[in-house]
Amino acid sequence: MKAKIWLSSPHLGGNEQKYVNEAFESNWVAPLGPNVNGFEEDLEKFLGEEVQVAALSAGTAALHLGLVNLGVVAGDEVICQTMTFSASANPIAYLGAKPVFVDSEADTWNMCPVALEEAIKSRAMATGQKPKAIIPVHLYGMPAKMDEILAVAKKYEIPVLEDAAEGLGSTYKGKMCGTFGTMAALSFNGNKIITTSGGGALVCQTKDQKDQTVFLSTQARDNAPHYQHSHIGYNYRMSNIVAGIGRGQMEVLADRIASRRANHAFYVELFKEIAGVTVFTEPTSDFYSNHWLSCITLDEAVCGHSREQLRLALLEENIETRPLWKPMHMQPIFQDAPYYGGRVAEKLFETGLCLPSGSNLSDEDRERIAIAVRAFFKK
Ligand SMILES: *Cc1c(COP(=O)(O)O)cnc(C)c1O
Repeated sequence: MKAKIWLSSPHLGGNEQKYVNEAFESNWVAPLGPNVNGFEEDLEKFLGEEVQVAALSAGTAALHLGLVNLGVVAGDEVICQTMTFSASANPIAYLGAKPVFVDSEADTWNMCPVALEEAIKSRAMATGQKPKAIIPVHLYGMPAKMDEILAVAKKYEIPVLEDAAEGLGSTYKGKMCGTFGTMAALSFNGNKIITTSGGGALVCQTKDQKDQTVFLSTQARDNAPHYQHSHIGYNYRMSNIVAGIGRGQMEVLADRIASRRANHAFYVELFKEIAGVTVFTEPTSDFYSNHWLSCITLDEAVCGHSREQLRLALLEENIETRPLWKPMHMQPIFQDAPYYGGRVAEKLFETGLCLPSGSNLSDEDRERIAIAVRAFFKK
């Protein structure tokens, strides 16, 4: 059996161990410490725009605390892009709030601004209340149409919590994803563009928001010699060990983005010769994707094969691929949630496939993928 080619596996840079060792040597093993501060500063510098970053235990935790910060409570409605990973929507349910799902538009596969406005108006009519927050996602690294989404959000005065878990290093009109919303979530899970083994961060616009996030993520301890609490707290802070991995990863982030974008260019070239297969690409020069994952859609009527047939053929060659995210409004757990839009996300799920996209793909890996793809479409 040939070695497995993964969809997206961790890719260490070399200096991670150095920062982790420093944590051991200085006994800064417990939460907080110089690596946490250093990692946050690295992220703030990278994102620019004077943002304030709070390093947390996961991207999911960042979304959860983002919603807490925005004042979402039980019974509220929160609008979420339907085409996404479940972690975008689960934190809404953690708070006893209700998700309202919105379809994608075809250019970016992200939240459709037209369906978003329809959802806001319709929910206000149905419940007498506006939704409390809007969660757009930069799926597979592709920036959402933030100008239009922010215009709708502003018109109805609803805060935006960006899910930038897949979009670190992507830009829209020259501005970094993760700096558009009132807040934004980042993820450093093992499959993301950089990893801390597991981790996340909440990008805040003000120091007060960051302080509040750190407070909530460290059990909400009031300022007193004993343990005193006037808020519900969480244990969501990133540890100093994990942050050491993050500092090492920040040194190679630019390389990782370049490698993922090179993978995308490779797929564009490979599929040029195959009619009926479209590689997911930036619609205009306003969009700059980190191409976290390279994705294709298949028009079965033209290319003669389904997405599932291609997936299974590549699996035979020990090449891992995965269908695009199954929309949240199609998930059993969210089947009763309101949904607005058409069938864009549903069709993407039917016809789309994520291809091996790791920054550690070798030339031999790409050659194997090219041979397998060409052989499949020749049949
Ligand atoms: C990975 C991911 C998350 C969750 O991040 P974790 O760090 O794994 O908790 C949230 N949203 C999206 C879109 C993701 O891809």
